[in-house]
Amino acid sequence: MPLTQQLTVAIIDSNPALGSGDCIKKDDPPDSRVSTVTPATISLFKDVGAWQYVQQHRHAYFDRMQVWDYTGLGYTRYNAREADKEVLGCVVENKVLHRSLLSCIQNSDFQKTIYPSRLTSMSFSSSSSTIGVGGTSSRTTPYTHGNLAKLELSDGSSLYAKLVVGADGSKSRVRELAGFKTTGWNYSQNAVICTVEHTEENQCAWQRFLPAGPIALLPMGDKFSNIVWTMNPKESSDCKSMSEDDFVKAINHALDYGYGPHPHSRLFGGDIFSWLGADVTSSANECFEVPPKVVKLVSGRMAFPLSLMHANSYASKHVVLIGDAAHTVHPLAGQGVNLGFGDAFSLSRVIAEGIAVGSDIGEVSLLKKYEADRKPANIAMMAVLDGFQKAYSVDFGPLNVLRAAAFHGAHFISPLKKNIISFASGEHKLPLFS
Ligand SMILES: Cc1cc2nc3c(=O)[nH]c(=O)nc-3n(C[C@H](O)[C@H](O)[C@H](O)COP(=O)(O)OP(=O)(O)OC[C@H]3O[C@@H](n4cnc5c(N)ncnc54)[C@H](O)[C@@H]3O)c2cc1C
Repeated sequence: MPLTQQLTVAIIDSNPALGSGDCIKKDDPPDSRVSTVTPATISLFKDVGAWQYVQQHRHAYFDRMQVWDYTGLGYTRYNAREADKEVLGCVVENKVLHRSLLSCIQNSDFQKTIYPSRLTSMSFSSSSSTIGVGGTSSRTTPYTHGNLAKLELSDGSSLYAKLVVGADGSKSRVRELAGFKTTGWNYSQNAVICTVEHTEENQCAWQRFLPAGPIALLPMGDKFSNIVWTMNPKESSDCKSMSEDDFVKAINHALDYGYGPHPHSRLFGGDIFSWLGADVTSSANECFEVPPKVVKLVSGRMAFPLSLMHANSYASKHVVLIGDAAHTVHPLAGQGVNLGFGDAFSLSRVIAEGIAVGSDIGEVSLLKKYEADRKPANIAMMAVLDGFQKAYSVDFGPLNVLRAAAFHGAHFISPLKKNIISFASGEHKLPLFS
């Protein structure tokens, strides 16, 4: 933004991709780590000029999504046009997101230095320094007053900053060094991820809830899809060690008739929502579909332990947390990275507002505005995802029927469906930099 363009920024990340400068080739094998980015994130990328780079690589917009239940009692189909949107989201390989943001940073006109290194320690000093980041006055004048955070890196260099943004993931070193407390729990579930191939291109996002957790089949472009399959740790190690052929059979079993029958569009022999009238139930026309068969595994299988974590506070003097450093959620609705981009937007706006009125960007009173903006949104999403996770951890007859009724409600009641799409799209506060 014009107001923040004068800041001097240091980007510290030990991810080897940051230092290598390697380009991604179109015919490179697809990465098994992908993110489903929402329309809100897409518009952020467009506003900062990063989406043009994503478009040069493999990516898959999808405008339809089907979510269903292994009991055969309920399903919901979402279509972007029901919420007056063109797309519900886009699946992008993480390496493409990283490379696109890096290209965007490299081609943007602001003072930045990239340190492909690890943060090892952080302390707060009131002395002057010869290297400074976060200043708005002169790019060469060292700070001579005020408290600064001192960062020490694994390559031996030291930096002094007015503001440290901890965007270093769920095991954040910044969070630990700044002493932020967290609340959370492990789910005793692992997500097994991999890339698979079909005979034809998949254009829909699919998610089926199974007794041990959901399995998602996400379109990736070309004939590839990504699998995110949540299960207990014992099942995940079995899945990782079985032969490729057996694993492909297990995926098809999990996505089709395995565990239970296909759901029907009429619950208990009748449409329980018909009394709501044709206007309200207009979205009921979409019938259940069977997802495309998987024919081949085209990547290794990786397993990630799943947990929920929330930092009790996101801001203290000189330090602020964003992304997974502040909150880690279950991947069942593909929201994690989107919450982080929402944080990034909010923080940039708060910093710009502070600069506009001459505030110190490391002042806790300023940074607390960011926390006040993001905490309610992040907690709301965490509560929804945790509720889903818990509701699907129990296989109990009456609860299964209630879940089916909820699926049917979401499928048949158009205003409810529209609201769900809107919430999942995260669009309430964007577009951003206009
Ligand atoms: C199986 C799975 C599927 C998922 N699918 C989706 C999805 O579809 N959509 C979605 O929105 N989210 C998804 N998520 C969540 C998403 O991956 C995370 O929310 C997201 O990666 C968080 O981004 P981040 O930048 O905050 O942290 P990270 O991605 O963890 O990045 C942290 C960065 O900090 C660097 N770093 C760490 N420590 C240091 C240090 N001491 N010094 C220097 N650098 C350091 C690391 O190198 C890394 O580059 C999924 C998660 C999982 C596990």
